[in-house]
Amino acid sequence: MLLGDRHPWEYANPRHTKRYENKLAYLQRKLAKKKKGSKNRDKVRQKVARLHAKIADSRLDNLHKLSRKLINENQVVCVESLAVKNMIRNPKLAKHIADASWGEFVRQLKYKAEWAGRTIAEIDRFYPSSKRCSCCGFVHESMPLNIRDWTCPECNTHHDRDINAAMNLKTVGLAGLA
Ligand SMILES: [Zn+2]
Repeated sequence: MLLGDRHPWEYANPRHTKRYENKLAYLQRKLAKKKKGSKNRDKVRQKVARLHAKIADSRLDNLHKLSRKLINENQVVCVESLAVKNMIRNPKLAKHIADASWGEFVRQLKYKAEWAGRTIAEIDRFYPSSKRCSCCGFVHESMPLNIRDWTCPECNTHHDRDINAAMNLKTVGLAGLA
């Protein structure tokens, strides 16, 4: 399983969360139209607060499901210690990160790994997993997040960004355990 630059929630059945989020957007528009200090505004505000709590619960639940699945299915899980930084640079994902963190996900992976006798290999955040060609080791100077696939100028291999990064993380993660 490959998470790459995408947030684990995108893999963790966000169907319910999405439904809550749509409802939240609707209520927030409604709230904006209510007169300040009015009873009606108060009612809508309470609904918004309840929905926020529901969304947080449902996201946490999704994270637990995904971390459990990863631990169940793999003997070793390699994680980048600071994928958050990359994701925050991507405005589409910043919203998710603000609500709950990659850190929480890694925390869950770690304690579940301990329970199940699995190994978590954490890879240093400065390791250029996205910029490095997993075939020949060529390293790009930069690799903007909008580039989803690329061809290595050195060995001509065509890479999917996320798969190439995962291959690098796997190699360096397993090497660290050896
Ligand atoms: Zn190459």
